[in-house]
Amino acid sequence: MTLQVAVVGSGPAGCYTAQALLKALPGARITLVERLPVPFGLVRYGVAADHQGTKSVTRQFERVLSHPDVTFVGNVEVGTDVSLEVLRSSFDAVVIATGLDRDRRLGIPGEELPGVVASGRVTRWANGHPDACPAPPLLGRSAVVIGNGNVAIDVVRLLAKSPSDFAGSDLPAVVASALAAARIEEIVLVGRRGVDQARFDPAMVKELTRIGGATFDIPSISTAAVSPHAVSLRHLGEHQPRGDRVTVRFRFGWSPLRIEGDARVEKVVFADSTGAEHSVATETVVSAIGFAGPAALVPDEAPAESGRLDAGLYCVGWARRGPRGTIPEARTDARHVAGVVAADLKGRGPIPGRADPYRCFAALPATDLAGWHAIDRHERATAADGRVRNKITDRRALLRLARPHLNHLEGEPA
Ligand SMILES: Cc1cc2nc3c(=O)[nH]c(=O)nc-3n(C[C@H](O)[C@H](O)[C@H](O)COP(=O)(O)OP(=O)(O)OC[C@H]3O[C@@H](n4cnc5c(N)ncnc54)[C@H](O)[C@@H]3O)c2cc1C
Repeated sequence: MTLQVAVVGSGPAGCYTAQALLKALPGARITLVERLPVPFGLVRYGVAADHQGTKSVTRQFERVLSHPDVTFVGNVEVGTDVSLEVLRSSFDAVVIATGLDRDRRLGIPGEELPGVVASGRVTRWANGHPDACPAPPLLGRSAVVIGNGNVAIDVVRLLAKSPSDFAGSDLPAVVASALAAARIEEIVLVGRRGVDQARFDPAMVKELTRIGGATFDIPSISTAAVSPHAVSLRHLGEHQPRGDRVTVRFRFGWSPLRIEGDARVEKVVFADSTGAEHSVATETVVSAIGFAGPAALVPDEAPAESGRLDAGLYCVGWARRGPRGTIPEARTDARHVAGVVAADLKGRGPIPGRADPYRCFAALPATDLAGWHAIDRHERATAADGRVRNKITDRRALLRLARPHLNHLEGEPA
């Protein structure tokens, strides 16, 4: 009997796990089960629309999905459409690669006010995620972004850029028009720690100089501060475009205390290290302080280093390590966990009397790789001038494109 492995989630961790399993377990069949009709997780729905170079990793993932021993099963949410128990009884091993999409909360008064939104919600919307697009975030002329990591800088770029700065991106048209209508004039980026402890990649700061019509207000940074962050910010201060369309202010060492407002957010109050309060008037607050675990299908907050949760059950990527790490780190993690899965399966072999794995999807409106390729072709063919694709943001429209191409999922080979 052929070894059958299900990988739940087709983001970087899922795709790299499939790739590593193809090498470690030649002849085994790998099935990627994805809740959306489209693959690639945060590469499609998190990585910034203007970072197409990073998104090009999907070419590698396409080769994995097109491998004859790999099957993509889209539009199936494990835990809702099919239970984890049924999946485990249908496959010799199940690897959970579902990532984490629950935003961490600030935990301060006023967080519920209209106009306060978490970065995950903003970046999913900006990437055309079908769950985020029906309701755009409430944007005003001014925004405070709380956080000091790369995602915070992604949000600043998104809010600060003019429509023409998005040439060559896949920013959806609905997002571009909402941003243009908001006409954001001021963005204040606030980090709790000092400049030397900031988490963003200095290269991300350098990239800000390319935003047309922006001025950057950088606090004076002591020459004793020699971290790459301090150097990159000093450089930005000295080589900035000094436009009059939007001003981006950096503030460090301020902790958010409360958000105030009546019908919507009006200001955020911060405290510095001396306890002095600083109030920033704003119409929008974006908190970019990360994501929260554990993943829905992973019972343990801190799964084992091996990735093994139980006999035949594993987790990988953000679902295993928490919401930290980049796409290359997902590859390292996937290779490690795939090695554990392969060693276990080589020792144990297929589950005796296991059901035909594809029977558990038979009654579901699943989509397949041909369906994703139909969506992909349509998005590329209908791209507006200056865009690489016209991202479909409506789930029903995605399904309309994907379903007619559905080939019956194959039964288990003899
Ligand atoms: C806004 C943002 C920007 C980023 N930018 C970069 C960058 O520029 N460069 C970089 O290297 N890294 C970047 N990262 C980090 C990178 O995206 C992650 O390291 C990587 O995506 C984690 O991979 P993953 O497969 O664990 O999770 P994900 O990418 O989240 O993939 C999880 C997949 O599982 C699916 N899924 C979830 N639940 C279920 C279920 N129950 N059943 C079936 N399927 C399910 C999801 O739909 C998704 O497709 C960014 C992260 C964010 C949040």
